[in-house]
Amino acid sequence: MRCPFCAVYEDKVIETRVSKDGTEIRRRRECEGCARRYTTYERIEESMPAVIKSDGRREPFDRTKIERGLQASVAKRPVSRQRITSLVFEVEREVSELGVSELRSREIGERVLERLKVIDRVAYVRFASIYRDFRDLEGFEKELETLRSEDTGKHSIPALAKDTVDEPVDAPADRERPRN
Ligand SMILES: [Zn+2]
Repeated sequence: MRCPFCAVYEDKVIETRVSKDGTEIRRRRECEGCARRYTTYERIEESMPAVIKSDGRREPFDRTKIERGLQASVAKRPVSRQRITSLVFEVEREVSELGVSELRSREIGERVLERLKVIDRVAYVRFASIYRDFRDLEGFEKELETLRSEDTGKHSIPALAKDTVDEPVDAPADRERPRN
């Protein structure tokens, strides 16, 4: 951002607010050249960072891609469509508030997982298996163990072979694939 007072390009963001209707971001900035403060307004769509995929390519942030991956993960689980939509909206808002121009797809996936874990454990494991791209069964088992040990006993995690492998789950479009 270019300072309107001294035209220096370096600034720091002091405060970020999203408008009530979720369409605009207001940022209070301080110029690192002259220390004066000014405010910028950005449309949410314009403020979304580019997503860096694991192969290094960039693509625009796409809410519908995340939503599709999530819908696949909650197949046959007691999770409403509304719940998924608001989860995606929350992540989108969080990402836009970072104020960065680029973000790794993995970081977005982790933000989704953080929330999904609270909503539905099975969906969480499904999404994690796709998104984190476990290279070996050991890594996957380790994750399951972590979940089991965190479990309060209210929920049980079905055996992997029964519930998460039999049903093919559509991969999110930006699944991170191993490089050859
Ligand atoms: Zn300035």
